[in-house]
Amino acid sequence: MLDRKSVTVVALGGNAILQHDERGTFDQQYKNIKDTTARLADVIEAGQHIVITHGNGPQIGATLIRHEMARKAVPPLPLDACGAETQGLLGYMIQQSLEDELYRRSMKRPVVTIVTQVLVDKNDPAFRKPTKPIGPFYTREQADELQKTRKDLVIVEEKGKGFRRVVPSPDPKLIVEGEAIRTLVGDGVTITIACGGGGIPVVNEGAGFAGVEAVIDKDLAAERLASVVGADRLVILTDVQGVFLNYGKPDQKFIDHPSIDELEEYVRQGQFAKGSMEPKVRAVIRFIRNGGKLAVIAHLRDVHLALEGKAGTRVGSI
Ligand code: ADP
Ligand code: MG
Repeated sequence: MLDRKSVTVVALGGNAILQHDERGTFDQQYKNIKDTTARLADVIEAGQHIVITHGNGPQIGATLIRHEMARKAVPPLPLDACGAETQGLLGYMIQQSLEDELYRRSMKRPVVTIVTQVLVDKNDPAFRKPTKPIGPFYTREQADELQKTRKDLVIVEEKGKGFRRVVPSPDPKLIVEGEAIRTLVGDGVTITIACGGGGIPVVNEGAGFAGVEAVIDKDLAAERLASVVGADRLVILTDVQGVFLNYGKPDQKFIDHPSIDELEEYVRQGQFAKGSMEPKVRAVIRFIRNGGKLAVIAHLRDVHLALEGKAGTRVGSI
């Protein structure tokens, strides 16, 4: 049985799967994932027990386009089902390439993806105020056309870019498959991929669950996952070195070892963009407040150092 204290949740950002300038062919995504899993294999080879989660923004965007464009031939699926599709797709790619990489290194290990539902509160204020942009940009005409058939959609203008759907981004409360994930992770051998794309958002309905049209932030879901498996480290990998103050301004300043109180103050000041850096910082704050030891936000290429608390913006210590 694994010493739970040594588990690390690694959250992969969009750049682990797709670069900004790429179209997103299957081959491009698979190649990026291979590069990422080679990095992960390095830390696994070094003896770390990791649990993997990942974003799905571009992939669910592409899925929505497929469903929209083919709506006359096959009925489109609701957003929760699209989330499930992307969990399966990305899980498949990560699973296969990580298994292959470990096998090449003579470290055969099972890698398993869990289709993960994440419970949100029906009364979460986010449902009254959708904020998360999702899917393709539309022209005004396309947006009007779409709105005729889907009166429930909220479509907003993004200055200079076109019209886009926005959905609620409720707070993750509980991982429905938590017990199963804990069991898998606890065997100390299986490498588990869970909560892809922040998990499939569900609400309580009668004695069960029902999917909802929403998107959960993957960094906040990663914190819930870390709590479920009793991880002592949460490592959020992205496309910047870490957290900056005055980001993008001439006087931007990297912060390498802030306290939780400092981070909370910076959140209050609005230092971090909503929907990108802010949820990462919030996840870090929650993780440490809930008893986690080390939380790091770092560039994907620094994963090895980040796990040791030697790169990125880190809070706490190991
Ligand atoms: P991911 O797919 O890794 O979640 P995001 O785009 O959601 O990536 O978040 C990372 C981005 O956050 C960076 O590329 C950066 O542009 C942006 N960002 C916003 N505010 C900050 C900040 N204060 N410090 C660093 N990065 C920031
Ligand atoms: Mg993000």
